[in-house]
Amino acid sequence: MNRLRELSSQVMDVYQSLSQEFSAYQSSQSLNCVEKCGACCNNPDIEVSPLEMLPLALHLFDTGRAEQAFDELDSYSGFACKQYQRLSLDGKEGYCGIYEYRPGICRMFGAAGYKTKSGEATLSVCKPIKQAVPEKYAAALIAIQPQHLDIFEKRLVDDIAANSEVRVTSTKPPMIAEGRQKLAQLDYELGERLMPINDALRFVLEKILTLSFYAQDIDGGVAA
Ligand code: SF4
Ligand code: SF4
Repeated sequence: MNRLRELSSQVMDVYQSLSQEFSAYQSSQSLNCVEKCGACCNNPDIEVSPLEMLPLALHLFDTGRAEQAFDELDSYSGFACKQYQRLSLDGKEGYCGIYEYRPGICRMFGAAGYKTKSGEATLSVCKPIKQAVPEKYAAALIAIQPQHLDIFEKRLVDDIAANSEVRVTSTKPPMIAEGRQKLAQLDYELGERLMPINDALRFVLEKILTLSFYAQDIDGGVAA
């Protein structure tokens, strides 16, 4: 268990730098999240590694809620991340109930770089941000000068290129794959495999509960 605690602390350190890096890019391109939006959380198929859920799982354990959380996840049949707190009936508005402990992908999603199948670096921006600030999205696309654009992107880029009022700053977006790699290299066993977010939390909670069952004094020098 001590090893898991140390690992969790390392994960939180990486989270801090990922949050700074990705939010700095979003701010620099004015591609910030839409107010009250939680559309990306309204989906149970968000893929994370169990490692990304370790800080939350340990927090639940330390506050005496691990077993309850495990049981609730076991019987959960909802269509969202279990941590998502909805504010609208359609689920598009809401907030994260565990913001401090949210996994890595939730710190990188929104506006970030990724590589296409052909290996070209390009920009991924979520639909709500694209729709809210299409001109900023187009400017960010121009800045990275991708070689291949779809029809929608090409039209936006052409429009924005003709608009001299929008400033284009050539900032490269941070890459999601590199962020994932920084986390995975902390522990390949827990960090390599991706699974749906609720399953990943359940997986790591089970590991912690099993360890605590066999080591009654979790901080009594029994290494996991
Ligand atoms: S952990 Fe929080 S930010 Fe991530 S998907 Fe769930 S509710 Fe959304
Ligand atoms: S990343 Fe996009 S979909 Fe997710 S909360 Fe922000 S604006 Fe909404």
